[in-house]
Amino acid sequence: MNRYIVAGNWKMNAGPEEATALASEIRDRAIVSAIVASEGAVVLCPPAVSIAVVAQCLLGSPLHVGAQNCHHELAGAYTGELSTNMLLESGASWTIIGHSERRRDQGETNELVGKKLHACVESGLTPIVCIGESLKERKEGRALEVVEQQLREIHASCGTSSMSKCVIAYEPIWAIGTGEAATPAQAEEVHAHIKTVLGTLGYQLPVLYGGSVKASNVASIFDMPSIDGALVGGAALSADEFCAIIAAAEERSHS
Ligand code: PEP
Repeated sequence: MNRYIVAGNWKMNAGPEEATALASEIRDRAIVSAIVASEGAVVLCPPAVSIAVVAQCLLGSPLHVGAQNCHHELAGAYTGELSTNMLLESGASWTIIGHSERRRDQGETNELVGKKLHACVESGLTPIVCIGESLKERKEGRALEVVEQQLREIHASCGTSSMSKCVIAYEPIWAIGTGEAATPAQAEEVHAHIKTVLGTLGYQLPVLYGGSVKASNVASIFDMPSIDGALVGGAALSADEFCAIIAAAEERSHS
């Protein structure tokens, strides 16, 4: 049985009212029985101000709520930040960490991502840890080397017991929000390498692909043997698109 995880990163879209409407539509239309039976998951990650209302809306449904970031400390003088316990209290059970937009805009490093990973696992949040190379790095033929270094640095920072409880998302930066996904073969090559590196470190973790996943390309991406699901940005804001992506995961969860 295949285990698929589908997560929607709503980024800075959908305040509480819009988030309630979108989450309700996805909740009412998504069929996730085989995904759940195979211990996969569907996770909606709204902006932090909408986590509580989305959690309320999904109460009793098999869908989960995730955050898009967290702080690595539990409390203190960190203006504007949110701790893992606060996110849990608001209804989140997952969170994305180390997204390339945060690495770019907030200067997040692998060391910091490792600390966030540890904080998530200590609190009981499942972290989706983003890694991926830039266009320049890919053109230089360094994609495998870059993701390997990211993994090793995150691992060195977070500690063994935390690493074993995370989900990895391979998100080539050049494919995010561009409409140009990696080809299935490009994604598979990197996923297989990530799994090999994780194996040498002693882990077997789900690895999601992210970068312009949509209803029209998800089948060929999910056909790849080392791809365990998708982290979806733009297409997660359309119930039609996102439910079609979930349906592709549901179909493969039977096999
Ligand atoms: C993302 O931001 O995580 C993402 C994958 O975005 P998009 O699907 O829009 O490329």
